[in-house]
Amino acid sequence: MAGVPQGGLEGMAVLVTGGGSGIGLGCARRFARDGAHVTICGRSEERLAGAQRELEAIVAPGGSVRTVAADVTDEAAVVHAVAVAAEPLGALHGVVASAGGSESIGPVTQLDATAFRNTLELNVTGTMLVLKHAARRMVRAGGGSFVGISSIAASNTHRWFGAYGPAKAGIDMLCMQAADELGASNVRVNVIRPGLVDTELVGFVTAGGPVLDDYLACMPISRVGTPEDIAAMARFLIGPESSWVTGQVLNVDGGNSIRRGPDYSGVFRDVFGADGLRGVVEED
Ligand code: NDP
Repeated sequence: MAGVPQGGLEGMAVLVTGGGSGIGLGCARRFARDGAHVTICGRSEERLAGAQRELEAIVAPGGSVRTVAADVTDEAAVVHAVAVAAEPLGALHGVVASAGGSESIGPVTQLDATAFRNTLELNVTGTMLVLKHAARRMVRAGGGSFVGISSIAASNTHRWFGAYGPAKAGIDMLCMQAADELGASNVRVNVIRPGLVDTELVGFVTAGGPVLDDYLACMPISRVGTPEDIAAMARFLIGPESSWVTGQVLNVDGGNSIRRGPDYSGVFRDVFGADGLRGVVEED
């Protein structure tokens, strides 16, 4: 049951990027309750400090909570974050790479190249850097489990999310590629594709309106997800129960991905106009 200590991660050190809020914090809560040494990373020290207080109140005896401020697109900062996460046990056993998001929204004919690049940089390069440096330690320690956080936008088109979908699809392939290479060293690499989950990132949708209604209409299990829904899958993938699972991309989305991506036209029509949404740009 969500929220009830289960145990089973004792003697494991786990790093959660983006662990100061939302899905990452939900995963960190679950790992702390289950006995792990958890390190959360993000850019804002203030956000991390608030999350640390919350996690310290629930961490199981024998576990611990650390924070490290790091931007996942900065390789030196990632190297440091991985080292901090390995401090308690001299090894790193698990990672959830939840730091991600989008800087770019809009019709493909109006995509801003800088925002597009930044979105790829945060999601794909950021995940790659964490994977690269965490996997080095996992290989040396004889194994480990890495979980990328993608999105149903990687598998189902989300019109006017021209950078986010491709960036998340990049995470999927990066992780499958790594799983194929690293299985020989007992390092597992999997991906979770969340559907709509109630976090700050999507507050403008979950607050209500036609976009939320459309999401709910596209989900066989018709409710907004919680960080705990994603954490339950992350817990399985990080833990020993999934020791023969690697290279998998798992949708946790109320079934949304077997139907279609959401219809944001009600929101974006006001910004780009009906013609803009179908690609009309009067001049180059
Ligand atoms: P949040 O905005 O709550 O979480 C994002 C976290 O990532 C924040 O804690 C943020 O902290 C951190 N972060 C952002 N940029 C960086 C960076 N460059 N370096 C380090 N940390 C960074 O949103 P969610 O929890 O919803 O999102 C988590 C992941 O789940 C993302 O990858 C998102 O794309 C994905 N996702 C979310 C869905 C949803 O419906 N909520 C659906 C599908 C996927 P700080 O700003 O302090 O750095």
